[in-house]
Order: sequence, then C-alpha cells, then structure tokens
Amino acid sequence: MKERVFSGMRPTGKLHLGHLAGALTNWVKLQDDYECFYSIVDWHALMSEYADSKQIKANCREVILDWLASGLDPEKCSIFVQSMVPQHAEIHLAFSMVTPLGWLERCPTYKDQIKNIQNKDLGTYAFLGYPVLMAGDILLYKAGRVPVGEDQSAHLELTREIARRFNYFYGPIFPEPETLLTPTPKVPGTDGRKMSKSYGNSLNISEDLKELWEKLRTMKTDPQRERRKDPGNPDVCPVWDIHKVFNPDMEEKVKLDAGCRAAGIGCIECKKALYGHLERLLEPIQRKRRHFEQHEDELNDILRAGAGRAKTVAERTMEEVVAAIGFFR
Ligand code: ADP
Repeated sequence: MKERVFSGMRPTGKLHLGHLAGALTNWVKLQDDYECFYSIVDWHALMSEYADSKQIKANCREVILDWLASGLDPEKCSIFVQSMVPQHAEIHLAFSMVTPLGWLERCPTYKDQIKNIQNKDLGTYAFLGYPVLMAGDILLYKAGRVPVGEDQSAHLELTREIARRFNYFYGPIFPEPETLLTPTPKVPGTDGRKMSKSYGNSLNISEDLKELWEKLRTMKTDPQRERRKDPGNPDVCPVWDIHKVFNPDMEEKVKLDAGCRAAGIGCIECKKALYGHLERLLEPIQRKRRHFEQHEDELNDILRAGAGRAKTVAERTMEEVVAAIGFFR
C-alpha cells in the first residue's frame, strides 16, 4: 500500500513558471512513489470570487491543461475537480462543527488577506472557514503527506488540530498529515519579485514563445550596468535570478557570470541563453498542451475517471464519519 498524497490548486487561470518549478515538477515526481490525489479546488475559488463566478469553469480547464502538459499522468494519479466530489462539502460541514472560531480568527493568512485584499468583500462566513475546507480536502483521503509551500504550513497545522479534535470527540478516524516540504525554489518574476499572477510579472507555461522572448528581452537587469562596457553584477540582476532556477548548465552559468562581471558579454547574450533553456523546457510541454486542447473528450474522460477514484475513497471516509458521529442510518 502506497502512502497517500493530496494537493490542490485554485483555478486561477493559466499557470506560470512559478507553479511549474515550485509545485508541479515535484507533484510529477511524487506520482511514482505515492497514491496521489490532485484537485482543482473550485469551491475554494468561489470563496473569493463569489460575486463573479463565471470565470471559474474556464479557469479549471486551463489548470487541467497545464497539469497534464507538465507531466501529471492520469494513469498514475487521480486528477479531479473538487466540486465533482460532493463529500468535500459534506466533510467541511462536519469539521465546521468542531472547529473553534478562535483558531480561524488567529490564522495569519486570514488576517493578511483581509488586510491586503481591498477590492473584494472577504468578510464572509465561508472565507473565515477557508482552512476548514482545506482540512476536509486533505483528511477526506486520509492523506499522510501534503506537498505545500511554506506559506501553507499554518493551514496544515490547523488541519492536524482539526483532525485531533475530531478524533477526540468521535474516535480515531483521521491521521495527522505531515508537510512534504520540498527544496522549492521561490521563482522570481520579470521584475525580481516573486512570480505571481497578481503582480503581472509572470511567464506562463503556455506563453507563446515569441512573447516569452519579448518579455525577457525587455527585462531590466543590473541598474548600474547602463552601457555594454560597464561591468555588471549578477547578484542584483532579475534575469540572473531566473537563470538560477531554470538554467541547468553549470559550465555556461560560470561563463555568463564571469562575462557579466568583466563586461565581456552584453545582457542580450545572457538573456538569449536563458531563452534557449526555457524554450527547451517549454516546447514539449506546450506540444502536449495543444494535444489536450484539441481533444476535449480525453480531458473530460480523465476528469471523470479521477473524480470516480476520489469518490470511492471519499464515500468510505464519510461513512466512517457519519457512523462515528452516530447519525441515524
Ligand atoms: P493557491 O492556488 O494554493 O492559492 P498559488 O496559485 O499562489 O496558490 O500557488 C500554487 C502553488 O504554486 C503553491 O504551492 C505555491 O507554493 C506555488 N507557487 C506559486 N507561485 C510560485 C513562485 N513564484 N515560486 C515558487 N512557487 C510558487
């Protein structure tokens, strides 16, 4: 019996290289060693997008395309949309019974988002309960491992606390899942800040390659290096930060680094080298993406099969939950 892994992503639209290097590459590796459930968590999206839900469906499709293109293999893992497995909603309700309000109000990500997101009213009952639904997502599969970024570790701690509290009232049903922290690089965007859709600094997995080159070509480099003959400093250059994540050629990196510092090469040369590596990485991924874009039927079959496998496990867990609570059956 392989240990179970659960992870999810909100359907935010086309994924970028941060998602690829920061999560998907690792998810692809995990499918060989674990029984993996990967979910596009559309209920979670609705928590912040409830006022305009029209984009969610199309965004789910973009995420699935990027997942399959990046190497998630439906023969090895279960890929599904959260709302297609209704037990997610049911377990969320059960967990909301035992979760003290204070745990949620104290959650650092909640306080952060309420403060920083001004254009939406997130003062809802559901948004406060975001981590309760997340706990439900994970525990429905009794996942022992959850590959998440460090930003999610507070949520995972809450998941363990909810499992513990539920087990205390109703008997030992849920394991306390461990974080599967990976040496995930924080992928910088075209402006040096963390790559993120909301910063408008991302390079998408499905980025047209000409467009990708335009974005690289116009990127700012070391601000001190105004002219070709000025020596540069890779340590302060956003292009170099992307090299560090996506250029696997050590020898070339040593040459480029030395060339920059001695003004032996120009920024365009360095950017061209980076483009070459990204092109090699993305070409096969984009080819695969186009295949699935043109085979909608395959995509739907994959989702149905994934949801079917997820439902089998989810139903079993909910039967245990209901029996442990002692509801009439
Ligand atoms: P979510 O969908 O969980 O709300 P995001 O869309 O921000 O959050 O990211 C999904 C996953 O991709 C997370 O595990 C996150 O750590 C990873 N990720 C996103 N952006 C980056 C980045 N710039 N560098 C590294 N990892 C990233």
